[in-house]
Formats: sequence, structure tokens, C-alpha cells
Amino acid sequence: MSDLKLGFPGISLIDDGAAAAAPLARPAAALTEGGHHPIAIVGSGPSGLTAAIYAARAGLRPLVVAGYAPGGQLMLTSEVENFPGFPDGILGPELMGRMRDQAARFGTEIVDADLVSVDLSARPFRLSTSSTAWTADALIVATGASALWLGLESETRLRGKGVSACATCDGFFFRDRKVAVVGGGDTALEEASYLTRFASEVVLIHRRDSFRASRIMVDRAQENPKIRMILETEIAEVLGETAVTGLRLRSTRTGEEQVEPLDGLFVAIGYRPNTELFRERLEVDEKGYLVVRDETSSAVEGVFIAGDVHDHRYRQAITAAADGCKAAIDAERWLEARAHGADPR
Ligand code: NAP
Repeated sequence: MSDLKLGFPGISLIDDGAAAAAPLARPAAALTEGGHHPIAIVGSGPSGLTAAIYAARAGLRPLVVAGYAPGGQLMLTSEVENFPGFPDGILGPELMGRMRDQAARFGTEIVDADLVSVDLSARPFRLSTSSTAWTADALIVATGASALWLGLESETRLRGKGVSACATCDGFFFRDRKVAVVGGGDTALEEASYLTRFASEVVLIHRRDSFRASRIMVDRAQENPKIRMILETEIAEVLGETAVTGLRLRSTRTGEEQVEPLDGLFVAIGYRPNTELFRERLEVDEKGYLVVRDETSSAVEGVFIAGDVHDHRYRQAITAAADGCKAAIDAERWLEARAHGADPR
């Protein structure tokens, strides 16, 4: 297990983003002053760390406020086979550890704590954890999005061992196996259709008898001979000790229970972008995601946005990393223009 923790002392494979979902603590009265950085980055998934690598190599001494559970969604993934450069695949936590080491190598200061407040109303921007405050001229928001989970103990225990929230990432591992998808929105229907490329059977479990998903997605799934729908049903328990062996299902109408033997569960009940601290000053769209202008810019000059916190379309490590790169380059150019007298305030 030791190499799973590369760069992440104290972080285990299934340590999830619970801290991100926890209520935000208030900053302590007396904060230690952490100093000034040309760039601060909030978030330490592929977008945040790629932004840090670029900013650090540009000599901008970035600060990364990484979060209490750093590394983002890839910390919950086992094998990653679609990130270029790793022909034999790489474990999600190891990939994130490598990105973190690469950012640190060029002088990034990484703080494993949650951001609890940010003030974008004055310059330099001021940001703080519960113990320390820093100032920064530019800020990159790369706080990502968290997949919503059912909240079952058995689901948490078997995450990365047959329970996943990403068919694109993990579907390949279920070739000729039987899997379930839970949810009734577009994501669930899309994931169910995608999984039929690999799985022998996909059972779609939805708690109601009508879908939130668009008609065309539902029709497509209903016509797919590999998809079987179990409606008005919820998951009471994910079965299995070290790997998923089945689901204990409960009818939402009658309460009757049944066991469905299968090999994997894909949870597709929606995502929550991590925007809590930024909503007041930055624009969010109707789904709660941050709105970007001109690739990475925001409504506040000097604040840039990267990764899943604005992107609900692609949600891939590689697209998030690309976004981080773009945000760092844009921030660097913005800082340079400002230093040469073109103060954009
Ligand atoms: P969503 O539309 O919010 O649907 C979430 C689904 O999960 C709902 O059916 C909901 O059931 C179910 N659910 C929520 N909590 C649950 C729980 N605790 N237990 C069991 N079921 C639960 O989320 P989404 O499907 O991720 O879609 C998010 C947005 O992205 C939507 O606007 C969607 O149109 C868009 N999207 C578009 C595409 C596309 O166009 N290709 C693909 C993916 C997503 P209820 O229906 O009973 O509430």
C-alpha cells in the first residue's frame, strides 16, 4: 500500500471528499500570516496541480490550498488507463501523488487544509484556512465537483472495489460482467448505455417509476437488449466483503426486498460542484457550476477557473489538467500585464 500514498502522507485509497461536503468551519480569531504569493490555487486535483506545475515553472511561487482530503476524485479511483503516458495504467492516487511531487519539485507550497474563507473584494485577495491566512495577486479556482453517493456504509467500504461513480473510468474493468447503475437522470442513462459496450448485462435501478432523464436517452436505454430496468426500487445494501457480489434491493412502493447478484455498481445520482466559498462573488450557472468567460476568466479580474468546478460536460482528468494549464498561462499573462502598468482593476 505504501506507494499508493506517494506524496500524500496519511491519505488512504478510499479517504473520500467527505471534508469537502462537511459544513465549513469558521476561521479561528487569530490567524497566522502565511505571507504573500503571486498566485494561489484552490484545489489539488489534476486541474489545480497542473496549474501549480505551470505557475511554479514560471517562477510564480504558487500556493496550493489542497483541501483536507487532497487529490480530488482520482483518489477514489483504482486503475486509470486513459491518462496518456501510462501504457500499463496507473492507480489514481499514485497519479495524483506524482502530479503533487512534480508541483512541489518546482517550488509550490502545498497546504493540506480546507479553505474556509476567501475575500475577492479587495486586492491582494485574501484567503484563509482555519489557522493561516495568505494574500495573493491572482487566484485559480480548481475546487472540482464531487460525485454524490448514496450514503451507505457498504457503498463507502467497496468504493474502488466494484463501486464507482465513473463509467468512462472504470467500465472497461467489467468486460463480460454484470453491473448495475443507480439513478434516473441523464448521467445514469448515459452511463448505462456506455457500460453495455463491456458488460454482459446492465441493471438500471431507479427509485421512481418515471425518469428525470431526457426522453431520447430513456428510449435508447429501453431499446437496448443489454439493459434491464428495475424501477421503484432503492439500494438497501451493497453486498460483498472485498469485492461487490450483489445488491440488496428494496421496493420503494411495498418495502419488499430482493437480492440481485452482480459484480459492480455505478452510482450516477448527480454531482455537486464545490463552489460554496465563491458563489457570492463569481457567477454560477443554473446547475450551480462556475461560469467561465474567454476560456478561464471569471467575473473578477485576476480570478481564473479550471476543471470540473465549471465543466460538467467532459469531467476527465486530462481535460481538467488541460484547463489547469490554460488557467496558469492566463494568470501569468494577466500578472505580467499588470506588472507593466496595465493595471486591470
Ligand atoms: P440529475 O438530473 O440531478 O438526476 C439525478 C438522479 O439521481 C435522479 O433521477 C434522482 O432521482 C436520482 N437520485 C438522486 N439522489 C438519489 C438517491 N439518494 N438515491 C437514489 N436515487 C437518487 O443528475 P445527472 O443525471 O447527473 O444530470 C445532471 C445534469 O447534467 C442534468 O441537467 C443533465 O441533463 C445533465 N447531463 C446531460 C447529459 C447529456 O445531455 N448527454 C449527460 C449527463 C448529464 P429522482 O428522479 O427521483 O429525483
